Amino acid sequence: GLFRENNTLPPGETRIGALFSLKHKTAVVSGSDRGIGLSVAQGFAEAGANVAIWYHSNKDALKRAEEIEEKYGVKCKAYQVDATDFDNVRKVLHKTIHDLGGRLDVFVANAGIPWTQGRMIDGELSHYRAVVSTDLDSVFYTAKAAGEVFRSQYESGVDAFGEKLQHYSYGSFIATSSMSGHIANIPQLQAAYNAAKAGVRHLCKSLAVEWVKFARANSISPGYIATEISDFVPPATKAIWRSKIPMGREGQPAELKGAYLYLASDASSYTTGCDIIADGGYTSV
Ligand code: NDP
Repeated sequence: GLFRENNTLPPGETRIGALFSLKHKTAVVSGSDRGIGLSVAQGFAEAGANVAIWYHSNKDALKRAEEIEEKYGVKCKAYQVDATDFDNVRKVLHKTIHDLGGRLDVFVANAGIPWTQGRMIDGELSHYRAVVSTDLDSVFYTAKAAGEVFRSQYESGVDAFGEKLQHYSYGSFIATSSMSGHIANIPQLQAAYNAAKAGVRHLCKSLAVEWVKFARANSISPGYIATEISDFVPPATKAIWRSKIPMGREGQPAELKGAYLYLASDASSYTTGCDIIADGGYTSV
């Protein structure tokens, strides 16, 4: 059947499979050397896309890219980038596109850092700047750089090498927001992070309207997912989170693959300006 335990799609076997296929497409995922981003990159490769892993400092990214190439038989390369630096983002994006075949179909702005201070009233402004810079500015910067490419592909009909685009597709921009962009996630008192993540959601809604001719823009709001980002959270706090999740457990990065693949692929061709919450029910209570 279509649904397999490990979420493996049967590429091209069925029409519904083709709807979710990313064959002939190129996708960039920022912050994908580990955690949620790595699962997303693996999911896209499994669906047939050539994939770029963007990382900041973790050199394991190069190994992860090799593993993806070997396992899924697609092109996958890793690129070091500082997502908080627009010029760097644009330069790395153009290099990525050049290396991976000349086109861009999907961009996932997923890089992020956690909050490390509690009450904003007692906190440092430098903490606010760091969180907003990595969790919101970076999404704006990557959107601007990716949006330029999506628009140019639409207007010119050619790729970065001047070749006519085969299998033209509408661009898909996806940003990782958070359930913390929907609610003030007590007891962590994470005002800067909450504000940045709410900003990410509304930025995507705005882009959906601005870009409607050439690309879609959507966001995903994960709940508590077991990754390194929450390593600093005390076990007692994690226990409180868990007790508030209707499903009674944290999510695994692989459980987000489907949401990202839906928004990346033609399966969501009429969906733009939307946010998918994947939080085990946390924000529904
Ligand atoms: P991880 O800490 O595992 O991964 C964060 C990623 O962001 C890493 O790949 C890191 O690169 C990259 N990154 C950090 N700073 C920069 C920068 N300046 N430039 C480029 N890349 C950078 O976290 P998750 O996988 O958990 O988080 C991924 C996204 O999901 C984040 O946006 C996070 O806010 C969001 N999220 C996570 C939730 C969770 O519970 N885990 C819940 C809701 C949202 P490197 O490894 O090289 O440092």
